[in-house]
Amino acid sequence: MDCKNLIDKLESEKSLSSDEYGFLVSSYTEEDRLYAQKIASGIADSIFGRKVYTRGIVEFTNYCRNNCLYCGIRCANRDIERYRLDAKTILSCCNAGYDIGYRTFVLQGGEDLYYTDEMMADIIRSIKKQYSDAAITLSIGERSYESYKQFRLAGADRYLLRHESADPKHFAKLHPASQVLSTRMQCLRNLKELGFQTGAGMMVGSPYQTAGNIASDLVFIQEFKPEMVGIGPFIPHHSTPFRSFPAGSVDMTLFLLSLVRIMLPKVMLPATTALGTVESDGRLRGIQAGANVIMMNISPFETRKDYLLYDSKREIDSTHLVSVQDLDGILRPIGYSAISAKGDYNNA
Ligand code: SAH
Repeated sequence: MDCKNLIDKLESEKSLSSDEYGFLVSSYTEEDRLYAQKIASGIADSIFGRKVYTRGIVEFTNYCRNNCLYCGIRCANRDIERYRLDAKTILSCCNAGYDIGYRTFVLQGGEDLYYTDEMMADIIRSIKKQYSDAAITLSIGERSYESYKQFRLAGADRYLLRHESADPKHFAKLHPASQVLSTRMQCLRNLKELGFQTGAGMMVGSPYQTAGNIASDLVFIQEFKPEMVGIGPFIPHHSTPFRSFPAGSVDMTLFLLSLVRIMLPKVMLPATTALGTVESDGRLRGIQAGANVIMMNISPFETRKDYLLYDSKREIDSTHLVSVQDLDGILRPIGYSAISAKGDYNNA
């Protein structure tokens, strides 16, 4: 096997076997990565024309019933101050975000059942009522089919729920026994069935992850065909059991972004905050590797320091919001522009 041939095969057939992916991720060279990047960015250019979609993210609660071993807001972490934003505050974040160009609001939080289905549906409806031209993405973890259905009926368009690892044994090393891969996968299938544009994904370099695990992730993504894929490096958080593990590789993350772009040409693929945290120009490099979405924080400044999923997260000490126009200024030098457009996955 040869990496370039496999990348060509992925481009023409849109699919590889688990062994082929395993070979790619364990033996690619810098030259192979650049080869994949060239194909991936060419595909992104032909579909999106060097335009980058923008999203404003509201981190509205850091209460979480879960205890993911990697995550800074896990319930066992007693070192953080917990907060919840009320509906009015969430809406005012969206107002501020709308004014500076965002047309997708991502509501993200820990798994916090304080927000009942009815409360979430009310929040979704009130945002949609005010901004019928904006999309709402939820990222609030595992809930029942019925709950997801209520969110969908209230007007939510998209849902991000990373699968975290498609290998049940690896998944079990990242989560306590109460959280299982089969539930997560069932949630993903439910979301798709309900018509959400659905996002899966995983961290790169999470503890105990092997090349075989990444191969399983890629095979899962190839089969599930999510409309969005979130891939970012693992970054340790000082108050978690994984505090001493090293951060994931930027290079591997970039390579995987390229492979996913080649595999699913139209997928909405963010250059993640985590990528921008490990390396200051990480997000720009992500765009060059084939990503086409950037998500910016539009949460209140006061609570940002308490939504620390990992150490040194970007924008936690900002004092101003980054607008779509600001992003455009950052992307122009590398030949891209940032756009406000709602940016739904295009099925056609
Ligand atoms: N509670 C929601 C949102 C989780 S936070 C949910 O369960 O989907 C969003 C993503 O951040 C997670 O899916 C995880 O992949 C990522 N994340 C969490 N901790 C991280 C860390 N230490 N390093 C990098 N990414 C992390």
